[in-house]
Amino acid sequence: MANPKESNQNISFKRTMSNNWFLLKIAFQEAPYFTIHELLGRTQNELVVFIEHVYMIGFIINCIQYQRPFAEVLWFILIVFAIVTVWSMLIPNFVDAKIRPVATEKINKRLREELYKKASEMDLKNYDDPTYYNEFVWAMSEATQRVPKVLLTFSTLFGEIAAILVVGGYVLSQDIFGLVLTVISVIVILSISNLYNKLNIRFMEKLKPLERKRDYISRVFYLQDYAKELRMSKLKPKLYEEFQETSDEMEQISEKETRKLTICNFVVRYVCNTFLYDGVYIIYLLFQTIVKGAFGYGTMVTLYNSCNSLKGSAHELSTVLPQFSEHGRYIEKIRQFLDAPSELNEVPEAKSPDEAFQELTLRNVSFSYSDHTPVLQDINLTIHKGEKIALVGYNGAGKTTLVKLLMRLYDTTGGEIQWNGTDIKKLNLSEYRQKFSTLFQDYQLFAASLGENITMDTVPISEKKADPLLDQSGFRKRFNSLEKGYDTPVTREFDEEGTLFSGGEAQMIGICRALYRDSSIIILDEPSSALDPLSEYNLNHTMMTLDREKTVIFISHRLSTTKIADRIYMLENGEIVEQGTHDELMEQDGKYAAMFRLQMEKYR
Ligand code: ADP
Repeated sequence: MANPKESNQNISFKRTMSNNWFLLKIAFQEAPYFTIHELLGRTQNELVVFIEHVYMIGFIINCIQYQRPFAEVLWFILIVFAIVTVWSMLIPNFVDAKIRPVATEKINKRLREELYKKASEMDLKNYDDPTYYNEFVWAMSEATQRVPKVLLTFSTLFGEIAAILVVGGYVLSQDIFGLVLTVISVIVILSISNLYNKLNIRFMEKLKPLERKRDYISRVFYLQDYAKELRMSKLKPKLYEEFQETSDEMEQISEKETRKLTICNFVVRYVCNTFLYDGVYIIYLLFQTIVKGAFGYGTMVTLYNSCNSLKGSAHELSTVLPQFSEHGRYIEKIRQFLDAPSELNEVPEAKSPDEAFQELTLRNVSFSYSDHTPVLQDINLTIHKGEKIALVGYNGAGKTTLVKLLMRLYDTTGGEIQWNGTDIKKLNLSEYRQKFSTLFQDYQLFAASLGENITMDTVPISEKKADPLLDQSGFRKRFNSLEKGYDTPVTREFDEEGTLFSGGEAQMIGICRALYRDSSIIILDEPSSALDPLSEYNLNHTMMTLDREKTVIFISHRLSTTKIADRIYMLENGEIVEQGTHDELMEQDGKYAAMFRLQMEKYR
């Protein structure tokens, strides 16, 4: 699988340019006029600078030296003034005020849409791989920031080429020595800038994992989610210590890496700029003008300024190639993320799952996460339509993993899962997942209305369908206290008036969500963990009184819930160790019975 972490490798020039073109094309498609303006911005600027600050000054001095008529100078100045006003003032101001904000928004929206779409379809497996996840978070934050940078680099490329042609042409028409100096310094600048860029990227990459670690520690200190536990545990000193160590390490890296960067800077700035131009070239020009009388004073000034500007353009141009290469590497990560194929791909002839659910069968299923430790081994079970199935076992037994496999959030590493007798890998993935309605242990309430949190859809909630669920989930009493009913904003992310629900209430909303969807199978992972005993009793009752059409799989720690199941599977170390009804298992007097009795004693 194409993994973004591979993108640190060097990429070819062709791929580099194709990557830059990838973002440029998006900008063109979304905001063509703005993109053209940005691309030509530098050219326009360079020409104005040459005409106004280089050529005009030399022209005026020559006019004074050779006593040209005043009207000639005046006309020249007026024409330059008119060009500068339109090019440098009117057009850029109009673009900045009117066009840029809208265009930037359009481009960002398009990129975000593509990334969010990919993120929502990405294999869950990828979240388990810290490097991939790191790259994914990075691609999200980087993509939109990269567009203006790419535009600027293209603009610099065009602008500096135009400047070199115009200014270089002028210098060449007067005297070749300036050009020779410029070429020498360009060669040195090019090689050193290339080195500088490589060092800089290495520097950033060394800092990245440390920044991630430091950000995590910062988040733990300021995010509400951690506030309670932070106060109740002894973790604080350890976190301070980690923070200190990480910051120290970052400081050491910065100190070491910036030393080499400074040397590169010195060679480029001093040797190639100050020494060659302000030393060697100025002496040459003075000698040619004063001693040999080869140039007028104006031409001497224009040549000096031209070569300075040529040097500036060459320097800028020398940064363009490394910039393309830097963008290329970063865009490579974005593209690899966008193009990463899903390992959970369907076979080409994937078919729709049967409308009517009959049975779900697991045959010799085994599974391990990316660390290859076996989590499930040789699981065999069949769930029939309408059955209420309980999965029980101690923490880490593999219950949640089992339901993730049922929904094909991961693929089995051995064995097969069949939906009405067909291997689920042969079924259309999204249609298959639609067959399940799930309340996970770590379910989330979203910053949206209560109704949207129940439907998980943009289609307005059907109150007729939702109302009975409020009773079934036990949420009715709290719901009646909400002034805005289904329109109540949930969380305070976007709305200061938003309602915050307690753990138990949130779980009831989650249960409404799971029951609202017309799915064949409802999966509830620890549905009663945050509920008080009365709500728990009500929920159990709901599960059992759901019509016989609905198949329910629930994972529960509390065995009082499992009493009512049609069949119980007890898992231990990834294997089914016992199965049967509550009464059968109590009769067997095995592990389930022992666990049940232990819990009963605790509740007594
Ligand atoms: P249960 O639901 O019975 O508590 P889980 O299915 O959550 O158990 O976990 C089973 C085992 O798989 C545990 O050892 C857990 O640490 C491991 N595990 C769960 N999720 C992941 C993951 N994303 N990556 C690696 N190991 C995992």
